[in-house]
Amino acid sequence: MKKILVTGGLGFIGSHTVVELVQAGYEPVIIDDLSNSHVSILDQLTAIIGYKPVFHQLDLCDEAAVQNLAATETDIEGIIHFAAFKAVGESVQFPLKYYRNNFYSLINLLNAYAGKPVNFVFSSSCTVYGQPDQLPVTEDAPVKPAQSPYGNTKQIAEEMLQDMMASGSKYKVISLRYFNPVGAHESALIGELPIGVPQNLVPFITQTAIGKREKVTVFGNDYNTPDGSCVRDYIHVVDLAKAHVAALRLMEQDSFTGYDVFNIGTGKGTSVLEIITAFERATGVKLNYVIGPRRDGDVEQVWGDVTKSEQVLQWRAELGVDTMMSSAWAWEQAIAKKPL
Ligand code: NAD
Repeated sequence: MKKILVTGGLGFIGSHTVVELVQAGYEPVIIDDLSNSHVSILDQLTAIIGYKPVFHQLDLCDEAAVQNLAATETDIEGIIHFAAFKAVGESVQFPLKYYRNNFYSLINLLNAYAGKPVNFVFSSSCTVYGQPDQLPVTEDAPVKPAQSPYGNTKQIAEEMLQDMMASGSKYKVISLRYFNPVGAHESALIGELPIGVPQNLVPFITQTAIGKREKVTVFGNDYNTPDGSCVRDYIHVVDLAKAHVAALRLMEQDSFTGYDVFNIGTGKGTSVLEIITAFERATGVKLNYVIGPRRDGDVEQVWGDVTKSEQVLQWRAELGVDTMMSSAWAWEQAIAKKPL
C-alpha cells in the first residue's frame, strides 16, 4: 500500500482525508502536534476505518524532529500538508506566530523529503483571490494583495512551491485552493472542532442551535448580492477530502510533471441567509439570528470555477447544502452528548 504522510491529520480536513485515503487503498501516516486538535480523534478515526492509523505527535517547526521523521518514515510516496494555523483574525493580532508556523513547517517538511520523488499536496485557499474581478473565479485570475497575514502565508507558500519546482526539484506538487469547507463525516465521529468562539458561519450556527451561543449575527444585508448577505462557495468536507485522493492519483501519472493548482469548490455561490434557511430546512431547528453591520475584511462574494478540477483532476463535488447542514448538526449533537 502506498504510504501517505498527512500533516495536520487530526484536524478538520485532515481527519476526513485520512478516511478517504484508506477507502482509496492508501496507508495514511498522521503527523500532528495537537495545537488545534484532540488526540481522541485518533480513536474516532479507528472506529471509522477499522484500525488505528500510525500517528507521530510532533511539531513540524522542530527541524530535527522532522529530519528524524524522514529518517524513520522512508517509504513515503505522497505528502498532504494540512498543518498550519488558520484563524484569519488571530493572524492579524499575532502575525509572526502565523508566519513562523506556516513557513517553518512547510520548509522543514520539504527539506526533509527533498531528493525523493514524492507527490506533494498543499492546502491553499480561495483567500488568495480576495474579491475577484470576475465570478466564478478561475485559477488564472490575478492573485490580490492578501487581506491578512494568514492569507499572505498561503500566497507566499504557493510562490515558494513554484520557485522550488522551477529549480529542478524531484517533487511533483499540487496546490488545492479550498473554498469554504463545512459539514462532517456521515458517522458523526469526526467534524470541525473550533477552539473558542467560531470564526466561521456553520460552526457558529450549530453552536447557536445547540444553545452554546445566544444568536447568529449576519454581518451585513446590504451587499450587492441577491439577498444582500455575503456569498461563498460552501463545500462539504468529505467532497473536499476526496479531492486530495484525486490530486495524488493525478500526480501518479507519468504525464503529470511539475506544479499545478486547482480550485476546490462546488462552483456555486450560496448566501449567508440561504445557509441559514438550508440549516432550518435540513434539521427542522429554528435558528435565532439577527442582522448586524458589515464585518471588516469580508469580501462581498466569491465562488469558484471548477471546470479545471472536473476536467483535469477528474473530481467534482457531489454533496449539497442540505447534507452539509444536517451532517454538521449531527456532529454538533454528537459532541454535545459525548464531549471529546
Ligand atoms: P485544523 O486546525 O482543524 O487542522 C490543522 C491541524 O494541523 C491541527 O490538527 C493542528 O493541531 C495541526 N498543526 C498545526 N500546526 C502544526 C505544526 N507545526 N506541527 C504539526 N501539526 C500542526 O485546520 P483545517 O480546517 O483542517 O485546515 C487544514 C488546512 O487547510 C490548513 O492549512 C488551512 O489553512 C487550510 N484551509 C482551511 C480552510 C478552512 O476553512 N477550514 C480553508 C482554506 C484552507
